[in-house]
Amino acid sequence: MTDRPEWLAQGSAHVWRPYCQMKTAPPPLAVARTQGARIVLEDGRELVDGIASWWTACHGYNHPHIRQAVQAQLERAPHVMFGGLAHEPAYRLAARLAALLPGDLDHVFFAESGSVSVEIAMKMALQYWINLGIGGRTRFVAFSGGYHGDTLATMTVCDPEEGMHALFAGVLPAQIIAALPVDDAAEAALDALLAAHAHEIAAILVEPRIQGAGGMIFHDDDVLRRLRHLADKHEVLLIFDEIFVGFGRTGDLFACEGSGVTPDIVTLSKALTGGTLPLSAAVACGRVFEAFWSDDAGAALMHGPTYMANPLACAAANASLDLFETGAWKAEVARIELGLREGLAPCRQAPGVVDVRVRGAVGVVEFDKAVDVGALCAAFVALGAWIRPMGKVVYLAPPFVVSDAELGLLTGAIATALGAKP
Ligand code: PMP
Repeated sequence: MTDRPEWLAQGSAHVWRPYCQMKTAPPPLAVARTQGARIVLEDGRELVDGIASWWTACHGYNHPHIRQAVQAQLERAPHVMFGGLAHEPAYRLAARLAALLPGDLDHVFFAESGSVSVEIAMKMALQYWINLGIGGRTRFVAFSGGYHGDTLATMTVCDPEEGMHALFAGVLPAQIIAALPVDDAAEAALDALLAAHAHEIAAILVEPRIQGAGGMIFHDDDVLRRLRHLADKHEVLLIFDEIFVGFGRTGDLFACEGSGVTPDIVTLSKALTGGTLPLSAAVACGRVFEAFWSDDAGAALMHGPTYMANPLACAAANASLDLFETGAWKAEVARIELGLREGLAPCRQAPGVVDVRVRGAVGVVEFDKAVDVGALCAAFVALGAWIRPMGKVVYLAPPFVVSDAELGLLTGAIATALGAKP
């Protein structure tokens, strides 16, 4: 055990870290291993993970059922290309996802990251109109506060001001960024906007229920009903990006299933494999799929990431779905919701806090201005918690297996670091 293992010292000159000013950022924490809701550092310290490794590790780390499934698949075939070849984990997973998703969201296109699945959903929407012989549908409507990824096309549908990509304004094609229809007035405004622009719009793209990386902003299911109504009225497609909210995070398995609003395409990733391996999917409804079903080879979807439907990742996802099928997650999310409400309530009194809100297994403390991420992270680590604030929010989205004591440690660390504890 050492504070600074040799591999960290040697590699630090060569690894370019994510979202990081390399010159001024403190060194990363060296991880030795993970277990349950915990990250064990090389120096022996243990941190309770409050954010489930960027919202992926929903069943906790090293879950034996997922580990076994991946190990068994590793013996059989770690990877084969998906062009012209098929394997059981992917075909079984596609059928299971189609059965779990509402309506006729039945056609699963696999990729390896969330951003790429959003790119594919956007490409499906653009080509849907081309294949129907309707020209000019080249733009998207997305929403203030939204976040859909870091690749170039997904950057165009992120919030242009608040998002991480403001730097590239003017470089990328401009999409139409609107306000979410949270009330009648906002719905009327969006209605008017769509009336003026529908002829150039391929799809509306939204993170249902919670806009995550843009600031953990909640909206209710009426917003989704309004979007479905307006998409139908103006004949544009509707895409739900469930990369964050999918797989139980808001208390329903999927926001689309819980809200009763079925989009035309849904994107999934993050918790899809229970946080073990990279995998994503863009799942299309029958109407979208049928626009590509043709004797004309030119109407096909020309896409195929090298590692798409990786068998290890699909085996992990199937094992993760087995765990969801037990139904235990529902009670866990309800328990976490209660724990977050109680544990974060004292933060309302902390200086600078403008809102404390909880939905499902997501708890948020929002400030009047951007927080000092480095200082807060260090304070949380000193209290045994791994929590990374974003912009104006400190939030928790823990693994569903987090114990009450661990959850208490996480909420207590936030209250203590904000000076909200008596
Ligand atoms: N969409 C949403 C809603 C996300 O939260 C994220 C990642 N935070 C992405 C897309 C991009 O996923 P990835 O980082 O896997 O590319």
